[in-house]
Amino acid sequence: MKAIMKTLPMPGVEVRDIPKPEPAPDEVLIRVKSAAICGSDLGIYHYTSAYSKMKLPVVLGHEFSGIITETGSQVHDFKEGDRVLAESVKACGVCEYCKTGMSNLCEKSTLFGIHTDGGFAEYIAVPYKLLHRVPDSMSFDQAALVEPLSNAIHFVRDITPFRIDDYVVVQGCGPIGLFSAQLFKMGGARVLVTGLSMDKLRFDVAKKLGLETLNIEEESLEERVMMDTDGRGADIAFVAVGAPPAVKQATQ
Ligand SMILES: [Zn+2]
Ligand SMILES: [Zn+2]
Repeated sequence: MKAIMKTLPMPGVEVRDIPKPEPAPDEVLIRVKSAAICGSDLGIYHYTSAYSKMKLPVVLGHEFSGIITETGSQVHDFKEGDRVLAESVKACGVCEYCKTGMSNLCEKSTLFGIHTDGGFAEYIAVPYKLLHRVPDSMSFDQAALVEPLSNAIHFVRDITPFRIDDYVVVQGCGPIGLFSAQLFKMGGARVLVTGLSMDKLRFDVAKKLGLETLNIEEESLEERVMMDTDGRGADIAFVAVGAPPAVKQATQ
C-alpha cells in the first residue's frame, strides 16, 4: 500500500510502498477514507526540534477516518463495513491518569503518526478500544476533524470558565481557533476572532460562520475591545496561536 512517511532526520516526507498492516487480535484494519493535516504534521515535515527524537521510519497522520475491512479475533463490537474514526492517543489504560479519565496525560501513551504508524496511508491497524462510530449523516472529511474539534471542546468546555454574554477574544483563526470560537458562541458568548493579513482565507471561513473578525495588522485590538465593551475590556482572551506576542497581548 502507499503511505506518506517520515524516513530521514531532515525536512521533508517520502511516499513509500509498504506492506498492508496485519491487525493484532485486539485491532481492526481500517481502509482510510480521509485524513487531516495537523499543525504538528507540519512540524514533523519541517523537522523542528520538538520532533527530533522521533523513531524513524514512521507513517504520519493522527486525524483520520475510514471503513473497517478486517477485525482481530478479540474484536466483537465492530465489524467489517463499519464507518469509524480513532482516538489519536494510545494510553496505557492502567495508570492514575488513565483511571481518572485523563488518559491524555498518560506518561506511557503513544501517538499515531509519531510513535506508531499513522493514517496517511491506505490502511491502518487500530486497537478497537480507540474506535468511535461515525454516523451516516457525517462525512469522512468531517469525521477526520473530530480529533482537533475534541481538543477545542476540552479547552473551551472543560478548562475555560465563561458565561453567557462574556466578551471572548480568540487569538488565531486556524482550525483550533475557529472551532473554539464557534463553541464559545454556542455557549452564548460574544466572540471576536483575530488574525493576520495572511489569514485572509480563514477570515472568510470565520465570516461564513457568523464570527466577528479583526486583522491585528490593520486595526488595534485593544481599541476595538475597549470600544465593544465600553472600556471594560475582554472577559476572556483565548490564545490559539503559537506566537509569543499573542500571549503578551492576551494579558493586556
Ligand atoms: Zn492534531
Ligand atoms: Zn496511562
